[in-house]
Amino acid sequence: MNSSNIVEASFRKNVDLMFDRAVALLDISPGLKNKIQICNSTYVVRFGVRLRGDIHTFTGYRSVHSEHIEPVKGGIRFASNLHQDEVEALAALMTYKCALVDAPFGGSKGGLRINPQNYDEEELELITRRFTYELVKRDLINPSQNVPAPDLGTGEREMAWIADQFSRMNTTDINARACVTGKPLNAGGIVGRTEATGRGVQFALREFFRDKHAVIKVGLSDNLEGKRVIIQGLGNVGYHAAKFLSDEDGVKICVIIERDGALVNQQGLDVQAVHDWMDVHGSVIGFPDADYVTDGASMLEHECDILIPAAMEAVINRSNAERIKARLICEAANGPITASADDILRKKGAVIIPDLYANAGGVIVSYFEWVKNLSHIRFGRMQRRQEEDRHQLIVDELERLSADTGIGWTLSANFKAKYLQGADELELVRSGLDDSMRTAYQLIRNIWVSRDEVEDLRTAAYFAAINKVVEGYRALGL
Ligand code: GLU
Repeated sequence: MNSSNIVEASFRKNVDLMFDRAVALLDISPGLKNKIQICNSTYVVRFGVRLRGDIHTFTGYRSVHSEHIEPVKGGIRFASNLHQDEVEALAALMTYKCALVDAPFGGSKGGLRINPQNYDEEELELITRRFTYELVKRDLINPSQNVPAPDLGTGEREMAWIADQFSRMNTTDINARACVTGKPLNAGGIVGRTEATGRGVQFALREFFRDKHAVIKVGLSDNLEGKRVIIQGLGNVGYHAAKFLSDEDGVKICVIIERDGALVNQQGLDVQAVHDWMDVHGSVIGFPDADYVTDGASMLEHECDILIPAAMEAVINRSNAERIKARLICEAANGPITASADDILRKKGAVIIPDLYANAGGVIVSYFEWVKNLSHIRFGRMQRRQEEDRHQLIVDELERLSADTGIGWTLSANFKAKYLQGADELELVRSGLDDSMRTAYQLIRNIWVSRDEVEDLRTAAYFAAINKVVEGYRALGL
């Protein structure tokens, strides 16, 4: 929420405004535009669970935005202020996100209005299982119709409960595990899903910095190394993005903004140390190697090269957009910039890597997990050792030739170790994710660069996504 009294449009309205900007550039009928934009259905359920000697009533949602491809896909969030508008906005974003990155799903989203911190693990399990029961009963969880995943306030643990509850209600369904993604490995998950959204943010930024046109536009040098980054939110997405970018690309995480304040260190914060500190102390307060700022949100306006909002929606809005100094903003969260703030930032010349692209890593790896569950085999199991044997053949032959001809080449131990190792599931997942992120970036940057009427990457991303949804509808004969 914005800190001033300025009224912002609702989250759903914001997504609609962004959709409108792009759809105006497409040659499609008003009827089809409307069909794509509206949310098909939202199921609201109120159910009771007996806890602490009394019945407690909970409200849950599952919105289905678009069924142009099934199953539909999207996370389930647990949040105390969750409401229908937010779930519908997020479901719409899932439609566009999946279309953009060629994850073959329609868009959906769900959630429970609950503060998980108010319940112990046993209670949360009871509540999650009961919510799952309500959704499964109506086919709002189903491997071929609607496949949830983690989102804010949920993770592997909740997904395991959901998968188990579905299996109990569908005892003969051989594909039961594909009813939800983001599960722990021992419950049918895939390696690399937990890190996937953060990893996707890293891949998105790497691809952006490979693009000369984009880097010139933003006025930065074409190298991620040494860039000063502000990250808002050190949850699953923010933590992984910050960690990978600092450990592997040499960026400096100068500011970490959390619920209870911000940490600042111009030399770069040790992301893992901050994360560990928060695990132990439940707060960033007291972290030794940084300055502490109480008003965390004010640090969004601090000088930096890249701003990464990785927490929640509408944190950059009409009330603070004018003061944002970052030239490049990468939306790791869903909807962190409102439509009015987007206008202000664009006019100021900021470049925004939009949410439907930047945070798509989660659903991309969810797609791989769903495929793994349906194929009932771990990626790489069939070909890994065969690949190693073939590489060994080449290495042996090169070494023989070198010895026989007296050339005297030697292959370095490092090369041999790397070359001889066949790809395991994690490497394949990362490769598939990287490829998906690069392909989607190329798609939107080409629209951005080649069409004068497309001023920004967000419009380009919506433009590309809507086009793909239109193709989906046409394939259905609509
Ligand atoms: N909740 C994540 C998102 O907003 C992941 C969705 C999924 O994997 O289905 O993209």
